[in-house]
Amino acid sequence: MAEKFDVIVVGAGPAGTSCAYTLAKAGVNVLLIERGEYPGSKNVMGGVLYRKTMEDIIPGFYKDAPVERPIVEQRFMMLDKESAVTFSYKGMEWGQEPYNNFTVLRAKFDQWFAEKAVQQGALLVNETVVLECITQDGRVVGVRTDRPDGDLYADVVVLADGVNSLLAKSLGFHKEFRPDEVALAVMEVLKLDRKIIEDRFSLEGDQGCTFEIFGDSTHGILGTAWLYTNKDSLNIGVGAMLSGLIKRKLKPYELLEYVKTHPILRPYIQGSEQQEYLAHLIPEGGYRSMPKVVGDGVIVVGDAAQLVNAIHREGSNMAMASGVLAAETILEAKEAGDYSAARLDKYRARLLDGFVGQDLKKYKDATHHFEKYPHYFEKYIPLMNRAAGELFTVDGTSKREKQRKIWQGIGTAGEKFKIAQDLFKAWRVMK
Ligand code: FAD
Repeated sequence: MAEKFDVIVVGAGPAGTSCAYTLAKAGVNVLLIERGEYPGSKNVMGGVLYRKTMEDIIPGFYKDAPVERPIVEQRFMMLDKESAVTFSYKGMEWGQEPYNNFTVLRAKFDQWFAEKAVQQGALLVNETVVLECITQDGRVVGVRTDRPDGDLYADVVVLADGVNSLLAKSLGFHKEFRPDEVALAVMEVLKLDRKIIEDRFSLEGDQGCTFEIFGDSTHGILGTAWLYTNKDSLNIGVGAMLSGLIKRKLKPYELLEYVKTHPILRPYIQGSEQQEYLAHLIPEGGYRSMPKVVGDGVIVVGDAAQLVNAIHREGSNMAMASGVLAAETILEAKEAGDYSAARLDKYRARLLDGFVGQDLKKYKDATHHFEKYPHYFEKYIPLMNRAAGELFTVDGTSKREKQRKIWQGIGTAGEKFKIAQDLFKAWRVMK
């Protein structure tokens, strides 16, 4: 007879493992299926992990987890060809308990987290691909895996299979995502001596630092590059909307090569050695691209449900929060003995009421707005850099004359009006 579980979770990323951990801790018989050799072996992240959501699941996790560095500084760089306007926040409070966020390497972190779920009683099966959901009379009753005799049954199946969720797609929950709903990202892990990292980024001890780099780093396409510090390596990467890459006939690795050799960024990575090269999609369609997340006997969590806040580069925390909400809803459904879509829909309601839904709604038009009008990155960032260069060059010109030059450099009255309009529109989609 085929095996039956209370819950089957597909995918041991942050969403799936959070769900499996919460269920197992409550005594539920849960199976966590991962296609990779081990959890994290196929997973990619820039690598900022947010403390709060993780700590709601495992208090004090950072004392034991393989985190790299607590981040004490976030720098934002508006990059042009040979210049950058940078602003940053550095806070010593972020370097102390309870910390704000950490850099992590997913291959290590996901493995550790899944092991915690196993310690709570979840059964983890690696190197197993879920091929499809098994349905009976329109309700999901299990999954078909690529193992011999690989049909497995459960009261609820949780789809935590990431951005491309073929499983949710095959249930008709979403269509193929459009190129303006996903970003394609590539990144490298670069080995570099710990002491050099600390000197180069002005860090003491374990402290870490992140750079988010806009503008020239993506050749004006909506997206960003990043440079994050690990203990003895750096993560450098670029992600840009697929639609922009197609339009400009650009390959993401070309952008990454450009970033690595850019005169402003090159000195930070000098002397490092490539350790890993990774590529992945990021769901950036936001609220308007969210698929159906609940059906009879099935719940969709994390990237599979498009839960990424691209503006704040938050994804792992949303994935974890959704995994926990799914687990809590399943626990209630179990008590009521009712796994219908109507009962499980509480998950969707809770998701939309909480920070995940609220943040996605807040920025519901932002991605599409900036994607549609690339001049924010293409034109306005160079303009800002030119203005800063002019203002800060001491050449005997009076400051009033400099102001006049900057103002004239912005363009005609019509162009100035257009910029004012654009800034207003940007404020409206971000407010
Ligand atoms: P995933 O992490 O993708 O996990 C899905 C899991 O399911 C994988 O382990 C996969 O192997 C498994 N799987 C898939 N299909 C099957 C199947 N059929 N059968 C069995 N197993 C399957 N977020 C942040 O918070 N901070 C960042 O700095 C950040 N940077 C990012 C940088 C990049 C380049 C990318 C790509 C993403 C970044 N994100 C970041 C987003 C974040 O990585 C995701 O939001 C998060 O990983 C989503 O978790 P998940 O569990 O839903 O999906």
